[in-house]
Amino acid sequence: MGPLLYKRVFTEKGPKILNKTIAAVAALFLAAGLTPRASAWGKTGHIYANSAAVGTLPPETSLAKFFGANQAFLAAHSSDPDAWRDKQHVPGEGPHHFIDLDAYGTPSDFALLNLPVKRADADAKFGHDLVESKGTVDWTIDLWTSRLAGAMKGSDPDLILADAAILGHYVADAHVPFHSAVNYDGQLSGQRGIHARFEEEMVHSTIKPADLTPDPAQPLTDVLASARAWSGQSLDLTPTILQADIEARVQATQAGKAVPDTGPLLTGFNTFTHKPLPKDGSPSSDYYQDNPVYWKTFSAITRPIALARLNASASHLGSVWLTAWQRTGSPDLSKLRAPTANVPIPVADPDAK
Ligand SMILES: [Zn+2]
Repeated sequence: MGPLLYKRVFTEKGPKILNKTIAAVAALFLAAGLTPRASAWGKTGHIYANSAAVGTLPPETSLAKFFGANQAFLAAHSSDPDAWRDKQHVPGEGPHHFIDLDAYGTPSDFALLNLPVKRADADAKFGHDLVESKGTVDWTIDLWTSRLAGAMKGSDPDLILADAAILGHYVADAHVPFHSAVNYDGQLSGQRGIHARFEEEMVHSTIKPADLTPDPAQPLTDVLASARAWSGQSLDLTPTILQADIEARVQATQAGKAVPDTGPLLTGFNTFTHKPLPKDGSPSSDYYQDNPVYWKTFSAITRPIALARLNASASHLGSVWLTAWQRTGSPDLSKLRAPTANVPIPVADPDAK
């Protein structure tokens, strides 16, 4: 593990758990951005997942109370790793956000069997460059769980909350179907733009914070194996979403509004018009106006999938937080103060493996 770098960020003090608070935080932090690959859930989905995870924790615990009091912080920093990758260009950050599991075989069960547990063994089996290029979100989740547990051994609330928020980002990324597939933007099947259409435009347009109803958190016995299983579940959903896109295109074509192969992935942009998505953060149906026939069919099939993955994301993030907390002997977090106005957030470790 290399040295921690730091950046200074501004944060608000955390109000209580309220959906309107989540929406307000979403509005504050939804700046549209152009990224070369995989923003994942857009900022909206990441805010939803980190926020909703707080509600999955056993309510009587000091963990739930401390995280509940700082929910806005956890939401506000839910996309920091994307900024490390896209704005700060931290070397080696890109692969932390995904794993193209089908690069190791199909179906997903076989890929999971084929992939060694240890990174060094995977490098020896497949070659370092291949493993790096196919993504390492599973090891990244495991690493940040350990970091969070380490932070909980101390009493620095800033570090605990920062690690928890960052961990949340990677957990949510593992739940994005197109973060688990070689065909990550439909580029291999003539369906480019599918990534952002599903995880960003459709989520932003059709899902509100109150729609999330995640299951209670459960302690995990093996975080790495769990993370890989989440990616496997993600991969298994991609054929349905790709098929929904095909069916929606057929409907749109029959209605005289054919959908083109919309070019490389442009998150933060309407994939039909390439105009920036609205920045107000409030869910709207603006994008549907560009091709309502397409969206009606596409969202009817894929919105339930997105909502299920966001729910799973929140529940599993709560589970990872709970696991880290229990690993350190369930320390009493009730005495910790709220984060300071300028909280140091550890920047991604370029040496993380
Ligand atoms: Zn990401």
